[in-house]
Amino acid sequence: MDTQNFKGTHWSARKTGPIYIVSIKDQSSIVEALTDFVKSQNIQAGEITGIGAVSEATLRFFKPSDKKYVDKTFHEQMEMTNISGNVSEIDGKPMLHMHITLGREDYTALAGHLLDAKIRGAGEFIFYPLDTRVVKVKNEEVGINFYDFEK
Ligand code: FE
Repeated sequence: MDTQNFKGTHWSARKTGPIYIVSIKDQSSIVEALTDFVKSQNIQAGEITGIGAVSEATLRFFKPSDKKYVDKTFHEQMEMTNISGNVSEIDGKPMLHMHITLGREDYTALAGHLLDAKIRGAGEFIFYPLDTRVVKVKNEEVGINFYDFEK
């Protein structure tokens, strides 16, 4: 199968068939690096998985009762035991939606919606692009972005 290598400021990647292996550089922001990656490859939809390690992470918790977000940043070295996420489009821009599970030094886990995290160590991702574009629109009643397959 055809393979091709690509490089950005904060990432490098190998494409094999339709699938990418992506490495994010030490000390880089995951969201910044992956957003740059999807833009550079013109990926409009797909699935992402990853593992690695981070030195800080900001998680977001959504409270449906008052439509409020509560953000919390953790400044410590943690194993990124899993990232699972997807790509869609909001207002014409690529949007990454990622959830993360983090392992602390005492082997307990933190988990949640990922706002951003900084790689410290490895950042290893697999990216599965889908051959479509998919749009999300904010639902004001609920307070979050939903897929709109009519768009
Ligand atoms: Fe989420």
